[in-house]
Amino acid sequence: MQFVSTRGGMAPADFCDVLLSGLAPDGGLAVPDSLPTLSGAHLEAWRPLSYPELAAEVIGLFATDIPRDDLTELCAAAYGPDAFPEPVVPLRALPGVGGLMLAGLSEGPTMAFKDLAMQFLGQAVPYVLQRTGQVLNILGATSGDTGSAAEHAFRGKEGVTVFMLSPAGRMSDIQRAQMYSIPEGNIHNIAVRGVFDDCQNLVKALNNDVEFKAAHSLGAVNSINIGRIAAQVVYYVWTWLRVGDGLVDAACEDVRIDIAVPSGNFGNIYAGHLARSMGVPIRRLILATNENNVLDEFFRTGIYRPRPAAETLATSSPSMDISKASNLERFIWQLLGAQDFPSQWAAVETSGSIDLSAHLERMEQEFGFISGTSTHADRLEAIRRVHAADGSLIDPHTADGVTVALRLLEPGVTTVVMETAQAAKFPETIAEALGSPQEQPESLLALLAMPQHVTTIPNEEAPLRQIIEEHALHGS
Ligand SMILES: *Cc1c(COP(=O)(O)O)cnc(C)c1O
Repeated sequence: MQFVSTRGGMAPADFCDVLLSGLAPDGGLAVPDSLPTLSGAHLEAWRPLSYPELAAEVIGLFATDIPRDDLTELCAAAYGPDAFPEPVVPLRALPGVGGLMLAGLSEGPTMAFKDLAMQFLGQAVPYVLQRTGQVLNILGATSGDTGSAAEHAFRGKEGVTVFMLSPAGRMSDIQRAQMYSIPEGNIHNIAVRGVFDDCQNLVKALNNDVEFKAAHSLGAVNSINIGRIAAQVVYYVWTWLRVGDGLVDAACEDVRIDIAVPSGNFGNIYAGHLARSMGVPIRRLILATNENNVLDEFFRTGIYRPRPAAETLATSSPSMDISKASNLERFIWQLLGAQDFPSQWAAVETSGSIDLSAHLERMEQEFGFISGTSTHADRLEAIRRVHAADGSLIDPHTADGVTVALRLLEPGVTTVVMETAQAAKFPETIAEALGSPQEQPESLLALLAMPQHVTTIPNEEAPLRQIIEEHALHGS
């Protein structure tokens, strides 16, 4: 498989070439220039595979430039017992809740779905660096989840150092503990006296210093990374296979499922869209947003209007507090075609929005997208409802997915909600929903008690540059 830029200005490149680059040189995103088709027989042959084995098959469709034996090893390490319990992504039914099922994407070290993609990068990135004799100093800003998943994936990894900025005093106790408790010397937690936007601006400032960036081999592993997208396709295939396991007599093409995805940057659900485009029998992709509902607006009206940071609300499903969905560009490229995309997309830059209402019917009929918005009250209600049904807990992001799935459910169709985080990570909202605090798991209490490693700096470039100069790795 080869990758091109959505903006049309990049020669076709291999997976390993685009794995370490953020934006394409023309400012666009890397997209597959064509997708393979997976037949029913093909999918059926994958049914007996374990998650790591399936991962090698599915990621292998994208990473055609990594020898299969190497990829098998990388996936075995990424999805092995050090990082995930068996079976990596468990499915469970919610009997009293509209017949919904949950796919557990949050069993990894940071209890959120980002681990599934990040753990693969934690293997694939050092592998590619070693092949080319390079090093990578990851510079990122986090409000909690992504940075934590990246640090856990790259802790102790050869050829990689992580500098992660976070807003001092503005993360939850658990998020802080997950990041700051990492003892490995290649992980540098830097708390900035400011807010998340300040952290992001510092990262931007250093990235814009082209000389500094090159001299210190600075890079990122953000949500537009193609390796993360490829690794996320795996669990859509896995979910479809596992739903079908129970239906031995059905011809496999007859097993059509709806999948609901709590969404922010459109990274998770874009992977579902790729799986569906390759022939995995997913009927509808149900996109759920919280009150920051730019994406729901897009799939209902055809108008995409990103909102400025100042208009982004702080909600109780914080990882979805996003008003500019970076991966949406990839879907719109496919919707409009490579020819028409660059000229039409320019409207987002010039007028702040793009009107694709003429394509609304295709978005639903051809691509299966429908959407809805969930609010704080909806989240609390969904958490209560699941708890009342079987005593189990869901996190606030998954609750957004459950809310919208229940609203758009069609009788007779199996609907799976992607569980993107574990409830234990959000004790305040769970306590608010259920009226009393829940007991915290033993493992979490131990985590909170661990010693923490963090350097606090003022919201200024100079101290950050100094830390990077002191600790960045240098290639040979
Ligand atoms: C990142 C995240 C999301 C949003 O996923 P996108 O790929 O940005 O759409 C949803 N829930 C949780 C818990 C997350 O960490």
